[in-house]
Amino acid sequence: MTQGFDYDLAIIGAGVGGHGAAIHAVSCGLKVAIIEAADMGGTCVNRGCIPSKALLAASGRVRDLRNAHHLKTLGIQLGSVDFDRGAIANHANTIVSKLRGDLTNSLKRLNVDVIQGWGKIASAQKITVETDKGEKTITAKDIILAPGSIPFVPPGIEIDGKTVFTSDDAVRLESLPKWIAIIGSGYIGLEFSDIYTALGCEITMIEALDQLMPTFDPDIAKLAERVLIAPRDIETKVGLLAKKIIPGSPVIIELADFKTKEVVEVLEVDACLVATGRVPVSKNLGLETVGVETMRGYIPVNDKMQVLAAAGEPIANLWAIGDVNGKMMLAHSASAQGIAAVENICGRSREVDYLSIPAAAFTHPEISYVGMTEPAAKELGKAEGFEVASVKSYFKGNSKAIAEGETDGMAKVIYRKDTGELLGVHIFGLHASDLIQEAANAIAQRDSVNTLAFRVHTHPTLSEVLDEAFKRAAGAAAGH
Ligand code: FAD
Repeated sequence: MTQGFDYDLAIIGAGVGGHGAAIHAVSCGLKVAIIEAADMGGTCVNRGCIPSKALLAASGRVRDLRNAHHLKTLGIQLGSVDFDRGAIANHANTIVSKLRGDLTNSLKRLNVDVIQGWGKIASAQKITVETDKGEKTITAKDIILAPGSIPFVPPGIEIDGKTVFTSDDAVRLESLPKWIAIIGSGYIGLEFSDIYTALGCEITMIEALDQLMPTFDPDIAKLAERVLIAPRDIETKVGLLAKKIIPGSPVIIELADFKTKEVVEVLEVDACLVATGRVPVSKNLGLETVGVETMRGYIPVNDKMQVLAAAGEPIANLWAIGDVNGKMMLAHSASAQGIAAVENICGRSREVDYLSIPAAAFTHPEISYVGMTEPAAKELGKAEGFEVASVKSYFKGNSKAIAEGETDGMAKVIYRKDTGELLGVHIFGLHASDLIQEAANAIAQRDSVNTLAFRVHTHPTLSEVLDEAFKRAAGAAAGH
């Protein structure tokens, strides 16, 4: 251990980012403390990825089993399919408790000191923790800040946690109101619309921008809208801002034109999920004591995860990972950043390659992507002087998808025309979240479609959708 310090490394925040960093640091021989003010496992385990995926798994099964037409084509007939809301909620809660316990035990087993309380930088290499038993001060050669994020609630919206709520409450599935408005059509809004419609609720989805799912590639968003929105009990309103939301029975929602900000419509619904993004937790962290100025709340970092001082230079021995730096607010990105920070602490230079980090929405069917959208790739091409091309392949031509009777879907491959380098892949369809990994690995290697077209894929599998796209791209690049 480093002489003169209590620890080699102290981490503030035991979410996926902090946990991943702690485990990696132990494997590198560091003595580690982790400070957590609330629940071990942070957002992902307690209020994010895990409970939402548990709800999606159960509600997705209900959707499948109630799809009599689909089952009939497979030769199956079922009577009525019932579900118990409370039991589905328990399924999610049980998994959360189990994973939280596993995560805490894994840290104890590795001799990581877990300190319960609010951590704050007192000065360089020193942290104070407000614990139940009073203030505790620890010193560490390096400090990683991993305090994560919380839901963003726009001004004018009042949350009561029962009729107007964020994903923090929604994951507990305490009720299933008949008519739910969802503000925001990002991945959280989409996943909950999938859960709620499968369980019989009607949805009104409100998006401030002119297009639903604005962060997805436009072709994928168009197809997703056709499959995930249009045939379901979902009404959509775009270009409208929820200016005021008053909880109660009914919930009153004032909708204003996004451009003029004039109220144009008032909705009365049973409940409202506010899914308008997330904001970093960076207040009361003692950042000012070491000269850090946040940017819209995010802690500025360089590619090595070193925290930057107001003048832009890195602050020695201070690192920030995960949602709080806003680079890519995903669980696996937080842990990748944690591992990179620890590698740099150990003197092995490492940066995170965001281009190759995939993302997914776990709707039925799923959406996934890695790398650039087509408009973003074209913009880069214009700036750097190369041409961009794209090809599509479809699930309806894939034997496995046909066998499953799940042929709604498409893969879109975006690449450089001159070198064939893969720039982005977007998939909508069955198991898209698993299929994207091959493309992520290929982008990490900066592979060309000309190489990828010769990789052999198992038959019959959904992975052949990508195989088909790579072959088409290589063929197009070769001029046939
Ligand atoms: P967090 O997980 O937010 O953890 C930070 C921890 O720090 C918290 O436990 C907090 O209590 C603690 N803390 C904060 N300040 C202090 C302090 N001063 N002292 C002590 N402790 C402190 N991502 C995916 O990749 N896949 C998904 O499918 C996915 N689904 C999601 C679904 C939902 C509904 C939501 C809300 C998020 C989802 N995410 C998903 C995003 C993912 O949960 C986050 O990106 C991830 O949890 C960020 O990890 P983190 O370690 O940066 O922060």
